[in-house]
Amino acid sequence: MSDIALVTGGNRGIGREVCRQLVEHGFTVVLGARSEEAGKTVAAEVGALPLLLDVTDDASVMAAAAEVAEVHGRLDVLINSAAITYDTWQRAETADLAVVRAAAETNLYGPWRMVQAFLPLLRKSSHARIVNVSSEAASLTGMRGGTPAYNTTKVALNALTRMLAAELRPDRILVNSICPGWVATDMGGPGGRPVAEGAAGIVWAAMLPDSGPTGGFFRDGRPLPW
Ligand code: NAP
Repeated sequence: MSDIALVTGGNRGIGREVCRQLVEHGFTVVLGARSEEAGKTVAAEVGALPLLLDVTDDASVMAAAAEVAEVHGRLDVLINSAAITYDTWQRAETADLAVVRAAAETNLYGPWRMVQAFLPLLRKSSHARIVNVSSEAASLTGMRGGTPAYNTTKVALNALTRMLAAELRPDRILVNSICPGWVATDMGGPGGRPVAEGAAGIVWAAMLPDSGPTGGFFRDGRPLPW
């Protein structure tokens, strides 16, 4: 029986490529998308199963968890890839807090809501993994000005990774933050590295052995400074 992985924001960009690579690795992949049409189209393209899922919407997340419970009965890997608002037009000193709040709803509360809803299914796996797709922009060590909504929400996501890793260690659920690097997607824009390279580091975290790390921050399988 193949492992079951769920990817949020699976219909384009890095999430789509993560779905494609996980299918290649033999996973049963559930491709979460907030557009039913895009989800169905892209799932068919990559060999995944579509799942209607808006990570900002409690009802949508609960319905998605109920569907995965009914169809699969468990979840082995949760990949929180959906994110918004790389706000290059803003500075912290003048940032529109409504924009920051909206970003947090997707980038922080989205993954948090997903973990809470899917934990019962993850606990039914003997080797569950949670992968939070973060960014080196969230590294406090190198923190500079700019992109305030994006950076602060990813910093908070990293904190969530640390807390969940500690809390879920007894359940043997590995939780890590992964930076895909600068990747040429709609969010990353032109000039970044190929999406396959960015996705590979996320797939690495999804496929960690039981002895693998938890509560870490990595790019391409190598630790990043918090
Ligand atoms: P992207 O091309 O902009 O794709 C974002 C994905 O998230 C889309 O599938 C989008 O769906 C989905 N999404 C947004 N809001 C959602 C919601 N409320 N519910 C469900 N899905 C939602 O971004 P990307 O470059 O692939 O980024 C993927 C991850 O990598 C993000 O966490 C990002 O922060 C991280 N990252 C990217 C880079 C980079 O250079 N690209 C660098 C570091 C980290 P729709 O199609 O419906 O909008």
